[in-house]
Amino acid sequence: MDFSFTDEENILRENTKRFLEINLQPYVKSIDKDGVIPANFFKKAGENGIVSPLIENKYGGSQLSFMGAAIISEEIAKIDISMATSVYCLLDTSWAYVLQKYGNSDLKKELLPEIANGNKFIGISSTEPSGGSDVSNIKTTGEIRNNKIIINGEKLYISGAIEAKNNHGGHLTLVKTDKNRGHKGITMVYIPADSDGIEINKLENMGRMGISTASIKYNNVEIDSNNIIGEVNKGFYYSMDGFNHARIMVAAACNGLSEKILNGGIEYINNRDAFGNKLKDFESIAFEAADLRTDIEMVKLLTYKSAYLADTNSNDQYIYAAMSKLRAPQIAMDVVKKIMMWYGAYSYTKDAEIEKSARGIFSYLVGAEGALNIMKLIISKAILK
Ligand SMILES: Cc1cc2nc3c(=O)[nH]c(=O)nc-3n(C[C@H](O)[C@H](O)[C@H](O)COP(=O)(O)OP(=O)(O)OC[C@H]3O[C@@H](n4cnc5c(N)ncnc54)[C@H](O)[C@@H]3O)c2cc1C
Repeated sequence: MDFSFTDEENILRENTKRFLEINLQPYVKSIDKDGVIPANFFKKAGENGIVSPLIENKYGGSQLSFMGAAIISEEIAKIDISMATSVYCLLDTSWAYVLQKYGNSDLKKELLPEIANGNKFIGISSTEPSGGSDVSNIKTTGEIRNNKIIINGEKLYISGAIEAKNNHGGHLTLVKTDKNRGHKGITMVYIPADSDGIEINKLENMGRMGISTASIKYNNVEIDSNNIIGEVNKGFYYSMDGFNHARIMVAAACNGLSEKILNGGIEYINNRDAFGNKLKDFESIAFEAADLRTDIEMVKLLTYKSAYLADTNSNDQYIYAAMSKLRAPQIAMDVVKKIMMWYGAYSYTKDAEIEKSARGIFSYLVGAEGALNIMKLIISKAILK
């Protein structure tokens, strides 16, 4: 067992950090305030191979491992603590992975280079007004007629819907192609967000303002059957593969944020005076720092292990990804809450900026990339069988 990163991984981290300090740091305030990540950032991130890093060289990507992608996800969240930029990039990373693994060659040639260079967004459209956890019960239909698939229905809380519409990207969308077969009757289709018959309505969120979530209504949307991913009625399995890998990226982003927030907090308690001491001299605070540092270290190791298992195609990968997704957002929230207490009233102001990380992290507690109870369901089923 080797706990060290390779030279390439260390260089990747350093280069990513430097790139983000120059190209993302100047925009982090405006991303949260104005709700937009500058398109120019994605163009430059694409040129540097970090916007969707699993895409193979032959499609213009940097063909990194899941470990490499997790390192990038961590570093992005350290800079944009609102989580918006990490969410955008981790969706691009995870769903381009699914397209690359299961999509047909025409679609891959058309889309992957554009995703890799930061021009187009790709996300996942699964959740519906009737619920997100119970994927097998989706209602949106896909009727295959000649060489088309006709989509009708509605999706809800879909990340990146507006961005996809604006940059001619789209979503891997789950539709029912056989209503009598539960999860075995679901097909995955790539649906461009600017297709005729699509209506997108943005939701007003509490956080991660730089990336939209929206409802997407499909009214007789005609999609070329070439956009069907893999085999008809296998979409549920492709989506689970995607979620199992996306959860590593989510956990890595949460861990990056936790580390950044804790480091800021430690600097603060080293310098802040109270009752003739520094805050760090009070054991109640110093011990909290020790607990938080330990929690972060634990969950980082868990997340790296799930990236390693993904890179080695382990059958247990999904269990570790679920464990990482279960713990990383909860630890991040705990870190943010405790460090807000260290900052006192200052934390409650927008100047401190820490509040936006609380708003961002909450998306991963309530449901994005799978609700926490669903992670427990996955883990318990695996260990109790
Ligand atoms: C900011 C944000 C962005 C999102 N982006 C996307 C996106 O891009 N694409 C997409 O498809 N979806 C997206 N989602 C939706 C997300 O996938 C869902 O929130 C998630 O799947 C849970 O579904 P739900 O919110 O409908 O909750 P429900 O499925 O209704 O669950 C509600 C509660 O019940 C619990 N629960 C459900 N079933 C069980 C069970 N069997 N046992 C115990 N407890 C259970 C859940 O843990 C949860 O706490 C996003 C959500 C958020 C908040």
